Amino acid sequence: MAEPPEDRLTPGLYIVAGPIGNLEDLSPRAARILRAADVVACEDTRVTAKLLRAAGSGRPMLPYHEHSGPDVEARLLDRAARESVALVSDAGTPLISDPGYSLVRAARARGIAVTTAPGPSAAITALSISGLPSDRFLFAGFLPAKAVAREKAISAVAGIPATLIFYETGPRLAASLAALAAALGGREAAVARELTKRHEELVAGPLPELAARYAGQEPKGEIVLLVGPPAGEVVAADALDEALRTALRTMPPGKAAASVAAALGLPRGEVYARAMALKSA
Ligand code: SAM
Repeated sequence: MAEPPEDRLTPGLYIVAGPIGNLEDLSPRAARILRAADVVACEDTRVTAKLLRAAGSGRPMLPYHEHSGPDVEARLLDRAARESVALVSDAGTPLISDPGYSLVRAARARGIAVTTAPGPSAAITALSISGLPSDRFLFAGFLPAKAVAREKAISAVAGIPATLIFYETGPRLAASLAALAAALGGREAAVARELTKRHEELVAGPLPELAARYAGQEPKGEIVLLVGPPAGEVVAADALDEALRTALRTMPPGKAAASVAAALGLPRGEVYARAMALKSA
């Protein structure tokens, strides 16, 4: 569904990406949709008011966030059926670690037109400057704050032959890096901070090095954490799982991981993490 060139938009839901810190990254098309939409659904009206000012828009806002109940969603869907409803986030692309998934799904189910003005997302922005393999990547959102849940989440993605992308916060960065280094060993990684802003910074290095560098620190600003693929990427994930399942029939996880790691030439920490994930699956 492409909107007509005039000021009026056809009815439907418009997923509009905004900047991740630099207002110049708001696209002219996104700005035009924000000027023309009948209503702009947003997380925080104070944040979106600034975006609308930058876009030259005086359109009304309607709060829609993770605590919005089904009533708010139903009202937005009713409006999107006969008017143009733009959805924006506080930063970047809606739905990416932000609200919108259930709204888009419900709109599609009701036959309401859904389209987008695409734009920045911190995950892709970080990947594009990280120097880590970009041919295959997995966006995994935020790691859990609690240690056991975090270890489980890391185990679940440890064996995936792709660059892993996590969203992070300053206060939790050190703990996440320590847990990733313990489970994944010396894999290449990068900490991308304050992307597109004045103090943009990218620090790259092996996980243990980054864990040591940030230990006890709470860097300011917004952070994306990236981890390169396992060194044994050439070993198919299926082959690793099959070898581990066989070994786990006769050995405890530690021994099974050591024997499979030696046989396939893979880092032991990664194979152990995968063994634990298979055991708890
Ligand atoms: N929807 C957004 C997107 O498309 O990137 C993400 C929203 S999520 C609630 C917020 C997280 O995104 C932050 O905690 C941080 O991990 C990441 N993030 C957003 N802006 C960033 C920036 N300028 N630099 C680094 N990370 C950023």
